Amino acid sequence: MSFLTRRDIIAAASAASAFAATTHLASAQTNQASAQSQTAAEPFSLPPLPYATDALEPHIDAQTMELHHDKHHAAYVNNLNAAAKEAPEFATWPVEKILTSLDEIPEKVRLTVRNNLGGHVNHTMFWQVMGPSGGEAEGAVLSAIVRDFGSLEKLQNEFNSAGARVFGSGWVFLTVSNDGKLAIESRGNQDTPLMEGKRVLFGNDVWEHSYYLKYQNRRPEYLNAWWKTINWRAVSDRYARAKQGKLVI
Ligand code: MN
Repeated sequence: MSFLTRRDIIAAASAASAFAATTHLASAQTNQASAQSQTAAEPFSLPPLPYATDALEPHIDAQTMELHHDKHHAAYVNNLNAAAKEAPEFATWPVEKILTSLDEIPEKVRLTVRNNLGGHVNHTMFWQVMGPSGGEAEGAVLSAIVRDFGSLEKLQNEFNSAGARVFGSGWVFLTVSNDGKLAIESRGNQDTPLMEGKRVLFGNDVWEHSYYLKYQNRRPEYLNAWWKTINWRAVSDRYARAKQGKLVI
């Protein structure tokens, strides 16, 4: 498993935005631009949404996307940077080390880091695995889904049931082991399987802020509609990287 720096996280997010027309040159330029936007004073930064806020309409409305990315995700990043000022010794660690070593984080910022770095990595993943015209599940990832769940429809049903069962705020994830095995796991708050050294193929945010404007209390309706927003090309790429031990966020 490779250890990545914050700069690599930004690079990963940028890679998703460049996904449709990736060339090594374009990817490198995007990454360089993102890296330059970092400052020493603010070690964590909000990755840009890799598509327009209305790109996932009608399944996820533009106002929800705008608030979710520009306000909620931004708040996690801002809170994390504030914690990094209070306890700068952790801020240079690779994120996967921070998430698996929370006991070593100074107690005064530990819960803040857990919640807000969890929120930062969960949302960074979330924007990457969605997108307009995301294609269909195919290839190695579809084979793994059929092997581990029987069919895509069965995975969707089990995943949606797990998402509906999350009490209060949390996430439902599909984790992937480094030999490609898939499993559905849910977590409360902004916790993530990365905290146990696991890797996430994709996940859906079931905090009310991700669906309430459009779906109100109808979380199951949101869970069903969300599958129409998946970027299966990005998911296939993540699956390949997971099997190479290169997937972090
Ligand atoms: Mn959220």
